[in-house]
Amino acid sequence: MKIHEYQAKEIFAQYGIPTVLGEAARTVDEVYDYAVKAAAPIMVKAQVHVGGRGKAGGVKFCPDPEKAREAAEKILGMDIKGCKVSKVLIYPAIDIKREAYLGITIDRAAKKIVFIGTSQGGVEIEELARAKPDAIKKILLDPTLPPDLSLFQEMGAALYPEPLLAAEAADILALLYVIFLEKDCTLVEINPLVVNGEGRLIAADAKIVFDDNALWRHPGLSLLQDFEQENPKEIEAKKYGLTFVDLDGNIGCIVNGAGLAMATMDMIKAAGGQPANFLDVGGSSNPDKVLNAIRIILRNPKVKVIVINIFGGITRCDDIAAGIIKATDSMEIPVPICVRLTGTNEDKAREMLKGTNLISADTMKNVIQKAVSFV
Ligand code: GDP
Ligand code: MN
Repeated sequence: MKIHEYQAKEIFAQYGIPTVLGEAARTVDEVYDYAVKAAAPIMVKAQVHVGGRGKAGGVKFCPDPEKAREAAEKILGMDIKGCKVSKVLIYPAIDIKREAYLGITIDRAAKKIVFIGTSQGGVEIEELARAKPDAIKKILLDPTLPPDLSLFQEMGAALYPEPLLAAEAADILALLYVIFLEKDCTLVEINPLVVNGEGRLIAADAKIVFDDNALWRHPGLSLLQDFEQENPKEIEAKKYGLTFVDLDGNIGCIVNGAGLAMATMDMIKAAGGQPANFLDVGGSSNPDKVLNAIRIILRNPKVKVIVINIFGGITRCDDIAAGIIKATDSMEIPVPICVRLTGTNEDKAREMLKGTNLISADTMKNVIQKAVSFV
């Protein structure tokens, strides 16, 4: 789960990481009034769940209230990489002398936590990693052991040659690490971590991503979720007990079990097709789940065919068939549906689907080949 910069900065402040808090504003007037009261330059920053806002024109330094008004007029309502800006963060601008990057995430390949830092912050870290990989310092640590304090110092020294700044950076990294562990994060990031006019370190930006699978341990955190920023189809799917992820292709997929769903997508690719989504209907077999799954998939106009691949264990094939029939009876389905049902109650399901215009196949490979032939 992602949260906004203004929310992440509040968490930073609670943990003692130096930053500048402000307000989240939804209207141009709020921004203007804030700038008048501040009587100093302010920042106006789009609050969206994507990076690179600066480059997209969503971050503006505003020396006076008129400029703040102009910035708010431009940024509020803007579209940044498909995310609509309905809020901006406003705060007294930090006087920036230098920009570094400091972050913590998980290195899945190494099965370790990784500290990432570079003295060349401000730009997107992915870009720097491509252009100048040597400029990035990475330190791996074992999450099952208490951290070795020298690792924090090592990163601090990699960012700043000045001992005082290096020590401050080490302290900030230690606090970031406490947040990372206590709140079950998958990413905490300060980009840029800046040296201000007084020579002190301050987090000028803040990013935190929480592990969805651990949210139950932190009931308060879900209150921070901004539904406006989420994919509406993914939210709706969750409501119906479906796990859904939107993808770029044109073959809709309805599968039971995450592993089979992944294998189905792999086979679609291997057969020359492109999946339009990942969809796991889960273990239970409520016919309404299938109905809702078809409805959500058809909301994507790119979809040319739907594959239903079910391996019936706890999921009963006849319930799935009932869901498909309910869907074909209750709505216009403009694309072919290719079905492979095997396992519990498959005979009953086959009987039910007889006489419908669904395209049946006996194996996973066959159903996928049939589907790919429609695109
Ligand atoms: P991002 O592009 O989405 O990562 O947004 P950032 O908040 O990191 O802002 C992008 C750039 O705007 C930074 O690298 C800074 O150069 C500049 N910037 C951000 N915050 C401030 C600030 O408080 N004061 C000043 N002077 N510049 C800022
Ligand atoms: Mn940033």
